[in-house]
Amino acid sequence: MSFNSGLNMEQSYYVATANAFAASPRLEGDIETDVVIIGGGYTGLHAALNAAERGFSVVLLEAGRIGWGASGRNGGQMIPGWRKGAAELIARYGKDAARVIFDLGLEARALTLDRIAKHAIACDVRTNGHLTLAAKPRDLEWMRQEAETLAQTMDYPHARVLPATEVETKARTVAFHGGFLDAGGGHLHPLNYALGLAEAARGAGVALFEQSRVIQADSARGVIARTEHGAVRARYGVLACDALLGDLEPRIAKRIMPVANYVIATEPLTSPGAVIADDLAVSDSRFVVNYFRMSADGRLVFGGGERYTPEPPADIARFGRNHLLKVFPDLRGARIDYAWGGLVSITMSRLPHIGRVGDLFFAHGYSGQGVLTPAIAGKVLSEAMAGTAERFDVLADLAPPEFPGGAALRSPLYVLGMLWYALRDRL
Ligand SMILES: Cc1cc2nc3c(=O)[nH]c(=O)nc-3n(C[C@H](O)[C@H](O)[C@H](O)COP(=O)(O)OP(=O)(O)OC[C@H]3O[C@@H](n4cnc5c(N)ncnc54)[C@H](O)[C@@H]3O)c2cc1C
Repeated sequence: MSFNSGLNMEQSYYVATANAFAASPRLEGDIETDVVIIGGGYTGLHAALNAAERGFSVVLLEAGRIGWGASGRNGGQMIPGWRKGAAELIARYGKDAARVIFDLGLEARALTLDRIAKHAIACDVRTNGHLTLAAKPRDLEWMRQEAETLAQTMDYPHARVLPATEVETKARTVAFHGGFLDAGGGHLHPLNYALGLAEAARGAGVALFEQSRVIQADSARGVIARTEHGAVRARYGVLACDALLGDLEPRIAKRIMPVANYVIATEPLTSPGAVIADDLAVSDSRFVVNYFRMSADGRLVFGGGERYTPEPPADIARFGRNHLLKVFPDLRGARIDYAWGGLVSITMSRLPHIGRVGDLFFAHGYSGQGVLTPAIAGKVLSEAMAGTAERFDVLADLAPPEFPGGAALRSPLYVLGMLWYALRDRL
């Protein structure tokens, strides 16, 4: 499960509606450059764009096709901030540090929207908000506290708690106990966003190579990235492989865990606005989260469900539909047109793992919140390469702990952990 060829990407709604994008060549022979980027998802593309804009020469090596990792398969939900809320950040880091971390999260949102506007990326972007549905009555307690902390300590007055009666008017689901609406949220077409970034990177002079899997990344002095057919020598490198890192750099692999997640898209619905109002992005507060939104052509794009083995379900559409019907029983008659899966990387703390080993920088482990975050990750990595590491250090200090048991044991332990949390969801 380590490369991005499987999990039905070819059958995804995103591939079916992808903007035209000319393929890039395979790396043949040796090249010298200032910066080599390994991985062509949001992280690699943002890092490449930022480095090129700072005047570095940049080569990007992608194992498969650009945007075909998690970046081209995800739910498309733009959720501002981190997987840890403001109140949790304050409890962990204190008010001042938490504010700095929070502001970097907000900057990620602004940078993402700026990129989309600046490069005129046609990716169906919507900025009407993100709604988290309260699966349990006690979720409303942390939601109220979070909205208050955001307004008072983070100077972010854009989130509010909705009573169950108002939630019912926003999403025609089974009953929830209320919700948390963040007006800064939204959604987009993830693959077209990635392809648009790649086009912008090309325009900025980045040399893109596809079907060029790096099999060795040597970071002792400078970086040498070797593929089967060539090598790139660079002053700096960026590992941007996320859940697909495999054993390319074992020193950092122990802090992330790849987990498969599945998404389906229905046929276009006759009144999409009656299913989700205001074109919101919506998820629920379960540990094994369900997330959904409408596509530009009125399909319900639904992700979620639990699965504790790395092998994909034999029938992803049926698997996804079973979960969809638990949330939207009224959609029993809706046809499922597309079904696919992807690998997401999570960390123990649910905060990302950003740092460097020698001259090789890395950013990964966004824990399911990686549509917006790569914009700031790519920016701070390029700042550090240019000699200003202050903001890079703030994010590097978030480093999550290693999974117990390291690479060999992390999967079985994760399965146990997920089972425990899934059980708690049901209680
Ligand atoms: C099903 C699913 C749903 C999700 N939903 C959401 C959501 O709604 N909202 C949200 O915020 N986040 C979501 N996420 C998470 C988000 O998609 C990721 O955090 C984000 O896309 C990570 O981007 P990336 O560039 O770091 O990694 P990727 O997009 O995975 O890119 C890594 C790239 O590196 C390449 N690569 C790997 N190894 C090598 C190598 N050796 N040599 C060269 N290239 C290599 C891969 O082929 C791949 O293209 C979801 C993820 C999944 C899988």
